Amino acid sequence: MTIQRNQPVLLKAIPRLIARLNPDHRKIQILKDHLYRIGAGYSGECNVDSYIGRTNFPHLTKVFSDVHLRISSSFTFQIDTLIITERFALIIEVKNLKDTVRFVQNPPHLVQELESGNEVIIDCPIFQIETNKSNLNEWFQQRGIPLKTISLFVLANPNTKVKDVPHDFPIIYKKQLPYYLQNLQPIETVLSIAQIQDITRKIYSEQQQFNPFPLCSYYHISSTDLRTGLLCHNCNEKLLRKNRETWLCPGCSKDSIDPINEGIQDWLMLVKSSINNEECRNFLRLKDKHAAYYALKKSPLIKKGESSATFYIAGMKRV
Ligand SMILES: [Zn+2]
Repeated sequence: MTIQRNQPVLLKAIPRLIARLNPDHRKIQILKDHLYRIGAGYSGECNVDSYIGRTNFPHLTKVFSDVHLRISSSFTFQIDTLIITERFALIIEVKNLKDTVRFVQNPPHLVQELESGNEVIIDCPIFQIETNKSNLNEWFQQRGIPLKTISLFVLANPNTKVKDVPHDFPIIYKKQLPYYLQNLQPIETVLSIAQIQDITRKIYSEQQQFNPFPLCSYYHISSTDLRTGLLCHNCNEKLLRKNRETWLCPGCSKDSIDPINEGIQDWLMLVKSSINNEECRNFLRLKDKHAAYYALKKSPLIKKGESSATFYIAGMKRV
């Protein structure tokens, strides 16, 4: 079984924000730390997916990655990995942590003891899992699904050492996953084939999209802090125009073919979901409104409005 897992949108977006900020900006370290955690989390999940994929499941088993569901108009919850069988729903929480982690109670949290001597406080994964368990149970209940939810905490890094583990909570390393899953035979069959198919449809159709854009608002950064102009995608240096079609980077000597479009994408991702002529001209430091008009017309964006009120948004152009 192959498990499809989409790359987190922030993994591509945060580097664009970092590229557009000065290296000494006060939020740079926070962004780099966040990017590192998201990258480590994602690679840990993909890694654990391959172990789940090696497990011999009953025929009807469904594995979902990055499930994001809504319980009420103001409340959604997200589960990294959800396995649904005719007998149970299993929430798997994956953590990819190096060195040693120690469980602390009252209030529950995790302390990561790094070999460098530093300590990092991490949200308690057990509390996280228990919260998600009750969220999922509520979602099931709202839809009349009589399924019992169980949970498991998996360490993606085989070298993570764990201290003071609560006795009543299952924590395993990823290589133990197929064995654990194959031996998991709780309770009797509660769902029919039709019911599993119905739940699968509901999960896909009710899936919520995580939308952190524009990133400046998400990270409380003023868009006036952003570096303007056309930037090298390789080293973030400001580009020099070589000829009509090509720009040259004075930093790494690489050519750039389409820096204008990349700059427009940066604006949409970081500042605002639409862009007009003046915004394009100022953000990319184009020489006049004609250059901005040409850039926007050539871009894959959709034009809205007329004359001076014209603006452009992302989407598929009608051909
Ligand atoms: Zn460069």
